[in-house]
Amino acid sequence: MSRNVNPFEVAQAQFDKVAAILELDTPTRELLRTPQREYSFAIPVRMDDGKVRIFRGFRVQHNDARGPAKGGIRFHPHETLDTVRALAMWMTWKTAVVDIPLGGGKGGVICDPHHLSQREQEAICRGWVRQLARNVGPVQDVPAPDVMTSGQHMLWMLDEYEAIHGGHYPGFITGKPVGLGGSQGRTEATGYGVVFTIREALKLLDLRPENTRASVQGFGNVAQYAIRLYRQIGGTVVCVSSWDQGDQTSYSFRKSTGVDPDELVAITDRFGGIDKAKARDLGYEVLPGDAWLEQPVEILMPSAIENQVREDNVGKIHSAVRLIAEGANGPTTPAADAEIDKRGIFLVPDFLANAGGVTCSYFEQVQSNMNMYWVKDEVLGRLDATMTAAFHAVADVAKRRRLPMRDAAYVISISRVAQACHERGWV
Ligand code: GLU
Repeated sequence: MSRNVNPFEVAQAQFDKVAAILELDTPTRELLRTPQREYSFAIPVRMDDGKVRIFRGFRVQHNDARGPAKGGIRFHPHETLDTVRALAMWMTWKTAVVDIPLGGGKGGVICDPHHLSQREQEAICRGWVRQLARNVGPVQDVPAPDVMTSGQHMLWMLDEYEAIHGGHYPGFITGKPVGLGGSQGRTEATGYGVVFTIREALKLLDLRPENTRASVQGFGNVAQYAIRLYRQIGGTVVCVSSWDQGDQTSYSFRKSTGVDPDELVAITDRFGGIDKAKARDLGYEVLPGDAWLEQPVEILMPSAIENQVREDNVGKIHSAVRLIAEGANGPTTPAADAEIDKRGIFLVPDFLANAGGVTCSYFEQVQSNMNMYWVKDEVLGRLDATMTAAFHAVADVAKRRRLPMRDAAYVISISRVAQACHERGWV
């Protein structure tokens, strides 16, 4: 049923609700509820078996009033233009809520990297850039890693862009490997950012991290680093879930004494898939996919993909849960959102909770422009300061206007973007 919720309709419904609260004028609403520009194109690739396969690629630039469009590129077999539109829109709100001078965009390719060689993935990356070489770039639209893409993919894309334009343009893309224009801390940034917001939310809830347990959906880049920092501040993760490529379903892995990310990483593939048999040998209970949601924990971190907490499973959330921090983009549908709000669970919305990645991308751009790189502590210190300030700005609006945290974050972001559009004379 609601498994098929269209993320773009979700993003528009969330926007419409707050546009009404802000009494936004009609042209501004019209401008902001749809993307400014969209590209959809074919990427022909000669596969390793000698045959040519055509992949579908997308880039959506939702809004660039506050600066160049910014956002990741996903490789996913179920990618759709509407999903990319939603994700692009959420990027606009994400860069605005942390107040960095960037807009919002997102890209995607319909493909499954589990079944592609490195060479085939490189060809997709280069093909994606060839289709868009004149429509993206440091002053137009700056891509980054996302679901199933990494620093290596960014480097292939940068190399193609620089070959076409005949120069070095490190500002074209972020999430590059350290030493090749990348920033220290970029890999950790999204997951760490989630935990900076958790740390601040726990203060408001009068809970000490060491007295909390968490359950996490996903075991990719965001989840792995969120788990590490949450443990460092004293928390215990009792359950993680991951996608099983062989069975085409997800499983949850529970260890009530506490999940050890190092032992799990050792048995996890590069997409975050945990080996079930090896996990059992390490003492993990292997449970059905949704089990992560039902655990008696204080904190939930949905950190995989969109549409995971829905009308049909929101009721499974345990009564112990006090806080949900959305590491993923769009994990909660509006119906589930309403239920979570009704139950009084404090929710840190996606475009605030996971803004650490793009914030560090911005730091990467700044360092690339200076051609001078900061040490990791400096990057993470600045990241902490930005995330903490953004969290409290949203929490203050939520309190003052008696709004759920998601709506409060939207109030701040939409106001900033609408103001930029007005001052530029667009609407
Ligand atoms: N893909 C990440 C996100 O959804 C990071 C985007 C970026 O760094 O531009 O926020």
